[in-house]
Amino acid sequence: MALTMTAAVLMLLGFAASARWTWWRASVPGLKVLCYHKIGVPPRGSKLGELWVSPEKFRAQIKFLLKNGYTTLLFSDLKKLRAAGTALPEKSVLITFDDGYENNYLDAWPILRELGAKANIFVVFNTIGKVNLWHNPASEPWVNMATLEQLREMQDSGVMEYGSHTMNHPHLSALKPEDAAWEMTESKRQLESAFAREMCAFAYPYGDGAYAPEIRKKALEAGYIFDFSFRQGKTPWPWERETATIDRLFIRGGDNNWDLSLQLSRGASRLF
Ligand SMILES: [Zn+2]
Repeated sequence: MALTMTAAVLMLLGFAASARWTWWRASVPGLKVLCYHKIGVPPRGSKLGELWVSPEKFRAQIKFLLKNGYTTLLFSDLKKLRAAGTALPEKSVLITFDDGYENNYLDAWPILRELGAKANIFVVFNTIGKVNLWHNPASEPWVNMATLEQLREMQDSGVMEYGSHTMNHPHLSALKPEDAAWEMTESKRQLESAFAREMCAFAYPYGDGAYAPEIRKKALEAGYIFDFSFRQGKTPWPWERETATIDRLFIRGGDNNWDLSLQLSRGASRLF
């Protein structure tokens, strides 16, 4: 009787774990792109708390990657790999941050630099040195965005590269086609002038427009080589640029290193 109870409890626990984790799924090949937003503790009143990852967790995640033999790629590395038509290094990962918060400079960059990892930030040009103006502060408090000086310092360290995340972080599909196109072309132009580097990568704010053919066409016409979506998963490599955007692996504040490992191998850790 006791044994049956134990078995039932174990089965229940197993079911609960399976509902969260995807360990039973097969590994899938492809490009692995981690997506982070903010490093730190969510401010009071934040409704997007899961987008904050504590510095301790971030450090543990970067250590996990390096201990497991991962190479961290910059956008320019990905560009070279694509141009050469070569396979991805067996264990490679692209770390990306969306938006360009000051906490990326204060709390992520020192950890990356200390441990020897590299990352990339999708910057919203018009909010450099300001706050996350596109959020309603009633649901997501305004926090500082990195300044131009901070961004330049990170670039000069060789640890960070940048891509565009538009001028103002709009819902691109809600704009007139010419305004959506401007958000993409103008941010590329401004960021290239500010950092004296080619901006080869673009991320759609909210993922909006990533699956709208007329908007995606404008992103590719703007001259970006890579465009990144807001959809969970890995992307087959070699990447078929004309067919689809590049998907990402979303790191949530509550994730542990097992989540990270499952995301890297399975393309997801949680079922929902
Ligand atoms: Zn964003």
